[in-house]
Amino acid sequence: SPVILWLRRDLRLGDHPALRAACTAGGPVIPVFIHDDQVEALGAAPKWRLGLGLAHHAQALADAGSRLILRRGEALTALRELVAETGAGSVCWTRAYDPDAVARDKAVKAALKEDGIDARSFGGHLMFEPWTVETKQGGLYKVYTPFWNAVKTREVEPPLPAPGRIPAPDTWPASDDLDDWRMGAAMNRGGDIVRPHVRLGEAAAQARLGAFIAHKISDYGQMRDVLAEDGTSGLSENLALGEISAHQCWHAGLRARHEGKPGAETFLKELVWREFAYHLAWHTPRILTGNWREDWDAFPWNEDDTEAVTRWKQGRTGIELVDAAMRELYVTGRMHNRGRMIVASYLTKHLLSHWRIGQKWFEHCLIDWDPASNAMGWQWAAGSGPDATPYFRVFNPDGQRDKFDPDRRYVRRWIAEGQGKPPQTALDFFHAVPRTWGLSPDMGYPAPVVALDVGRKRALEAYENRTF
Ligand code: FAD
Repeated sequence: SPVILWLRRDLRLGDHPALRAACTAGGPVIPVFIHDDQVEALGAAPKWRLGLGLAHHAQALADAGSRLILRRGEALTALRELVAETGAGSVCWTRAYDPDAVARDKAVKAALKEDGIDARSFGGHLMFEPWTVETKQGGLYKVYTPFWNAVKTREVEPPLPAPGRIPAPDTWPASDDLDDWRMGAAMNRGGDIVRPHVRLGEAAAQARLGAFIAHKISDYGQMRDVLAEDGTSGLSENLALGEISAHQCWHAGLRARHEGKPGAETFLKELVWREFAYHLAWHTPRILTGNWREDWDAFPWNEDDTEAVTRWKQGRTGIELVDAAMRELYVTGRMHNRGRMIVASYLTKHLLSHWRIGQKWFEHCLIDWDPASNAMGWQWAAGSGPDATPYFRVFNPDGQRDKFDPDRRYVRRWIAEGQGKPPQTALDFFHAVPRTWGLSPDMGYPAPVVALDVGRKRALEAYENRTF
C-alpha cells in the first residue's frame, strides 16, 4: 500500500532516512507538506524562505518522478484525509525537536496508530538524538565543551544516497496551489532585494559545501571572524530547512580533517553547537520562550519597544558596527555570526532591553531562522542561558570593529551615509525598508542613541546589582 512521506524541515533527497524507508517499503510514495498553524506562526522571512524551498523541492521531486502534495489545515486531519483518499498503510516523517512540534507529532503518531496506520518517525535533522547524549550522572549537558567531548568521537553513519526514482502512485491526490498560500505575504520588506542573497535548494547547498571544503575550510579558523569576508560555510539557511543534512556536513568536515586541513576541527565544533542547541531545547524547552536560568526573571530588562529599540531594529543606533550588522540582516536575511553576538550584546547590555525582543526580531528577519540556535544565541549573549557569557563581558562594538573590520570594508558595505558613492549593498537597505520607516541616505548618520561608555556603565551596574 502507499506510504505517505510527511515533509517538514527536510527538503532534500539525499541522506534522508524517512524517504529511504518510504522508498524501500514496496509501495508508491506520496510526499506531502502540510501548512498547519505552526507554519502559519512562522516569522515573515522564514516563512517566505520556506515557500521558496517548497517550490524548489517540488521540482526536485518531480525530476525524481514524484510530486509534492500540498495540504492546509491541522496535521492529523490532513493526514487522515490523505490516508482515506489513497489507501495508504503507513506515514513516515523526520523528527523535529521543538516542544510544539514534539507535542503535535506525538499526538499524530498515537492517533494514526489507533487508526491501524504504521506511523514512524526517523532521525536526520540532527546527528545525535538529544536523549542519547547524557552526562555521567544522567541528564542533560548544560555546558558546550563537555557536550563536544561526549560526541566528538562518536561514529556517525555515512550519509545515505538519494534514491534514483521515487515510486509513484497511478493517480495523485489533489494538491493546493503553493501560490495560494501566499508564503511571502508578510515580507513587507522587499523580497526582491533579499532574493539574490538566497541559496536555494539541495544542489546549491551541496555545491556550497564542496566549495567551502575545497577553498575555505583551511583558513576558516581565522577568516570566520572577519566581518567583510565570506569565510564561513553559509549553510545555515539550508540546514534550517534540511536542504542539506548535518551528517553530510560532518562527513565532509571529517574528510577535510583527515586531509590535514587546519580549520576542519573548528567547523566540526560549529556543527556541534547546532546539536547542542537542540540538546538544550529538547531537554529544557523553556529555553525557547523564557530565561533558562529562571532567577533572571527578576532582572529589570526593559520589555518595551523604546525609541532605542526601534533604532536598533532600523540599523540607526549611531554605532557603526551594530548598524552595519542590522542592515546586513535586513537586506540579506542573514547576519555574520560575530555581528549577531555584537548586536545581541548591545541590545541586552548597552540598551538593557529584553533578549526576547531581539529573538523575535531575528525570527522575523532571518532566512536561516532556527528556533534552537536563535534562542541559545540570545540567551548566551544576555547571560540568562546555561552556557552564557559572563555578565561583565560587554562587547565594545567599536573595539570589535577595529579588530574584526580593521579596514572598515564591512561598515562601508552597509552604511551609505557619509559616503560620496555608497556601494549598492548600502543603498539596497533603503530600498528594502518599509516606507513607513521614512528613511533615506540623505538623512545623515545619527548620533549614538546611547554613548558606549554610558551604556556599558549602566549595564555593569544593573548586572552587578542583581539580587539573585
Ligand atoms: P558556519 O560558521 O559555516 O558554521 C557551520 C554551521 O554550524 C552553521 O551553518 C550552523 O548550523 C552551525 N553553527 C555555527 N555557529 C553556531 C552557533 N553559534 N550556534 C548554533 N549553531 C551554529 N544560527 C542559525 O542557524 N539560526 C539562527 O536563528 C541563529 N540565531 C542566532 C542568534 C544569535 C544572537 C547568535 C549569537 C547566533 C545565532 N545563530 C543562529 C548561530 C550562528 O550565528 C549561525 O549559525 C551562523 O552565523 C551561520 O553561518 P554559517 O552557516 O556560515 O556558519
